[in-house]
Amino acid sequence: DQAVETATNEASTASPSRPVGPPLVVLEGVDKHFGDLHVLQHVDLQIGRGEVVVVLGPSGSGKSTLCRVINRLETIGSGSITVDGQELPAEGRELARLRADVGMVFQSFNLFAHKTVLENVMLGPVKVRRRPAAEARERARELLRRVGVESQADKYPAQLSGGQQQRVAIARALAMEPKVILFDEPTSALDPEMVNEVLDVMVGLAKAGMTMVVVTHEMGFARRAAHRVVFMADGRIVEEGDPESFFTAPRTARAQDFLSKIL
Ligand code: ADP
Ligand code: MG
Repeated sequence: DQAVETATNEASTASPSRPVGPPLVVLEGVDKHFGDLHVLQHVDLQIGRGEVVVVLGPSGSGKSTLCRVINRLETIGSGSITVDGQELPAEGRELARLRADVGMVFQSFNLFAHKTVLENVMLGPVKVRRRPAAEARERARELLRRVGVESQADKYPAQLSGGQQQRVAIARALAMEPKVILFDEPTSALDPEMVNEVLDVMVGLAKAGMTMVVVTHEMGFARRAAHRVVFMADGRIVEEGDPESFFTAPRTARAQDFLSKIL
């Protein structure tokens, strides 16, 4: 698998080098308004195959909206967004199929409360990818094992801790075999002692070559797994760079100010 090879082909530095090759996700001149509010202002962003991009920025800077437009949960005003060379259509069956290429993990887990853990992970592959139930069940068990919650398979989400629920949400995203997974503050709703069990799973995915966009203020994750940090303010990408340079020597006043508040 080329993505895996690219991501593991790292130098002996702490941070893996950024992968090369044609980008997987391309945003060009993306604008988005909510009424008078210009929430994404001519955003250009390319994400390589196997690349892990951490998105940082103050509350309200447009990070969630950036994730949501990539997945077509929000429309855009102008510009274009492609995933693996394809523009996502506005609606219909084609949208469901292409959207399945873009996994999403939210702050609030968003599991189906009335389905078991196993059913939560099986559902997408059966409904959208049209996989046979037996195959989807087998694969779901394998993924639950991978994220360390196999023993919870027959429970309901409310019976699990937050950290376990978020790991199920990651397994559910993986079950669709997405080309890229977007994580929107995946650990912000967790009790502190559960943050690492989720981050460890994400670091594992990053090391396995998954293409990831991660909105998070977890610097430890950025340092361990990110190829690049993108800093947003007021709907724009204000600064980007490798994690070490960004955290130790941010160039813009906006980034310096932001980091002085979270560090
Ligand atoms: P972040 O994730 O960086 O905190 P968001 O992308 O959630 O920022 O929001 C960017 C701006 O857009 C904020 O000012 C927010 O209040 C506004 N916004 C987000 N979603 C909506 C919406 N559905 N309707 C109107 N305004 C919105
Ligand atoms: Mg947000």
